[in-house]
Amino acid sequence: MEFTQEHEGIRRNVKKFIEAEINPHVDAWEEVGIFPAHELFKKMGDQGYLGINKPTKYGGMGLDYSYQMVFLETLGHIRCGGVPMAIGVQTDMATPALSRFGSEELCKEFLVPSIKGDYVACLGVSEVGAGSDVASIKTTAKKDGGDYVINGGKMWTTSGTQADWMCLLANTSEGPAHKNKSLICLPMKTKGVQIARKLDKLGMRSSDTAQIFFEDVRVPQRFLIGKEGEGFTYQMLQFQEERLYAAAAGLVAKERMIDDTIEYTGQ
Ligand SMILES: Cc1cc2nc3c(=O)[nH]c(=O)nc-3n(C[C@H](O)[C@H](O)[C@H](O)COP(=O)(O)OP(=O)(O)OC[C@H]3O[C@@H](n4cnc5c(N)ncnc54)[C@H](O)[C@@H]3O)c2cc1C
Repeated sequence: MEFTQEHEGIRRNVKKFIEAEINPHVDAWEEVGIFPAHELFKKMGDQGYLGINKPTKYGGMGLDYSYQMVFLETLGHIRCGGVPMAIGVQTDMATPALSRFGSEELCKEFLVPSIKGDYVACLGVSEVGAGSDVASIKTTAKKDGGDYVINGGKMWTTSGTQADWMCLLANTSEGPAHKNKSLICLPMKTKGVQIARKLDKLGMRSSDTAQIFFEDVRVPQRFLIGKEGEGFTYQMLQFQEERLYAAAAGLVAKERMIDDTIEYTGQ
């Protein structure tokens, strides 16, 4: 495909933003094992970068995914892996299903502030014992009155210690593993949500990764994304953006590594 002036404008402006607002702080953020997600995401939200392909009615730019690909590719100029990954979680891992299937009311409550950069979002799929095999998750969300009562836990949750809400995958019935799951918006300040620990990782250090437990966490049933029982399918669709993020954000980073290696070995 041919890139338009608008694509190149996004590439140029995002690179400038990274050089001014992110790269000068990367070493310090890697050192302390966290970056100020609310502060950075607010600046990105002000520029419209957190909603390039999201609907205009929710504050996005309403552009097609090729513009988002250019944005993700440009994230490769960030001189670490953790910050771009957390940005990718915000734009391409925790919010696509909500944007695609969430009710207008739910999108106003969780998607609009995530696009603005007022909310940090996280994705709760992986568990201890359920990584690649998503169908085997054990966390449950059982109906009680007008609520879901959530019990279980999540592992490897990116931005888990800072997030305002989680796009949570949980079992909402006893049925077959691909038909018994639902995606639910879970505000992280809800009683019973316990950030058990921030994981000390070898790489991606500037991104905070958490283990989280849920004990009788109550959320209203209206926080369900789309239809009950469709969560596995919604999540598989949501993984498409996650994979595209991983492919696109790695390209420039790899070129940069080759350039750095050539420069270093030439000294
Ligand atoms: C830095 C970081 C951030 C993360 N952020 C999030 C997040 O925000 N939210 C979230 O939900 N999860 C997150 N994850 C979890 C991530 O999605 C999982 O690590 C991933 O799904 C793999 O699961 P696992 O680690 O349990 O490995 P496993 O599933 O146990 O896999 C281990 C190895 O076995 C291989 N394997 C597995 N099954 C098969 C099979 N059937 N056949 C052949 N080989 C197989 C895999 O390819 C892999 O090499 C994060 C992980 C990391 C490391």
